[in-house]
Amino acid sequence: MLKPDYLIVGSGLTGSAIARTLADAGRDVLIVDRRDHIGGNVHDHKHDSGITVHTYGPHYFRTNSDRIWDFVTRFAEFFKYEASLKTLVDGQHENWPIAASYIAQHIGTDWQPEFTGTPTNFEEAALSLMPRVIYEKFIKEYNEKQWGVPAHTLSADLCKRFDVRADDNPILKPDCKHQGIPLLGYAHLMQQMVQGLPIELNFDYLDRKKEVEAQKLTIFTGPIDAAFDYKLGKLKYRGQQRKHTFLPDTPGAGADRAQPCGQVNTPMHSQGKAIRTLEWKHMMHPAEAKPITGTLLTTETPFTPTDSAQYEYPFPDSENAQLYRQYRKLADDTQDLLVCGRLGEYRYFDMDQAIARAMLLAERILNDDPDADRLPNG
Ligand SMILES: Cc1cc2nc3c(=O)[nH]c(=O)nc-3n(C[C@H](O)[C@H](O)[C@H](O)COP(=O)(O)OP(=O)(O)OC[C@H]3O[C@@H](n4cnc5c(N)ncnc54)[C@H](O)[C@@H]3O)c2cc1C
Repeated sequence: MLKPDYLIVGSGLTGSAIARTLADAGRDVLIVDRRDHIGGNVHDHKHDSGITVHTYGPHYFRTNSDRIWDFVTRFAEFFKYEASLKTLVDGQHENWPIAASYIAQHIGTDWQPEFTGTPTNFEEAALSLMPRVIYEKFIKEYNEKQWGVPAHTLSADLCKRFDVRADDNPILKPDCKHQGIPLLGYAHLMQQMVQGLPIELNFDYLDRKKEVEAQKLTIFTGPIDAAFDYKLGKLKYRGQQRKHTFLPDTPGAGADRAQPCGQVNTPMHSQGKAIRTLEWKHMMHPAEAKPITGTLLTTETPFTPTDSAQYEYPFPDSENAQLYRQYRKLADDTQDLLVCGRLGEYRYFDMDQAIARAMLLAERILNDDPDADRLPNG
């Protein structure tokens, strides 16, 4: 029987940042993860060609917080990478987010939102931000492919992630102070973060509870519904099926780079079920990518996973939000169990948000806060 003071289930950014912070303060921790690698969904690996692939989808690190930047750069060097994305509309690679000049050219400059008032769903929220033609070309069907349901059934909150530009800056997040990708990859970053800490891999906590017992607190960063054996029902997620295609750099094929940037969205149903194509070489440090011959493309096609290891995005509707609230109550009412992280809070967190959350939760534990086994706003 393993008996750490703090058992951390999951070695993703949330679990690893909590474990590191507790261990730095002298606390006794053990991390377990059911996968055969640490790092959760930020993990990356090398393709046979030497190209670095973000195993669970493209990850662009960015933060405005000096504290979070200091935390990650303590473990790894980052090279500057400011993601710029394109979306393939009418056969052209257009900026994503949509360039102001595109709207001006196709609609003019004095358009009025079609929807005014308080939006009750995604479609209304989008039409309060942009002209219908733009919504239909760039947004509507992309989201229908992403979520597998008609756009008007999705939550208005989803639009909070949209940015309708007043300029043509192609950078995805031009105002973010720190942006980059770890020079030696995310797997290396995560190895450095948990260096020296005890870790058990291939260890599914829910299957092997009898082998481990936290003396003080269990911090569970897996799916919250799984933690309670799905007794209230299953929360819905979307995942992505990834298909990799290597293009060897044969003379005349022009295959060294196939796309103008690392991510090209294909927003229309008529373009097939995939929502985007990634070209990983763009996301490598230029000096590392240069000697590699050929290029690797990955298409991502959304689906509804049944295996919780493939869960990526929480489903944005009121039914699942309601079910989550019921699980949250169960979790918060269970003593000495803290359920957190993107799967534990059924919430999309950017990496910097996941780290900020982890730091906050770890501080509450270190301060012996009697409510440390509940979420701050739970
Ligand atoms: C497709 C995609 C693209 C993204 N791109 C970006 C981006 O560009 N920029 C950005 O900032 N963020 C991005 N993110 C968000 C980023 O992936 C998350 O912030 C991060 O993964 C959160 O870490 P976590 O530790 O909370 O969860 P996870 O990384 O999922 O870690 C949870 C861990 O718990 C383990 N686990 C689960 N159940 C058990 C169990 N029963 N027993 C043992 N172990 C268990 C899992 O194996 C996993 O390792 C993206 C997310 C997705 C889905």
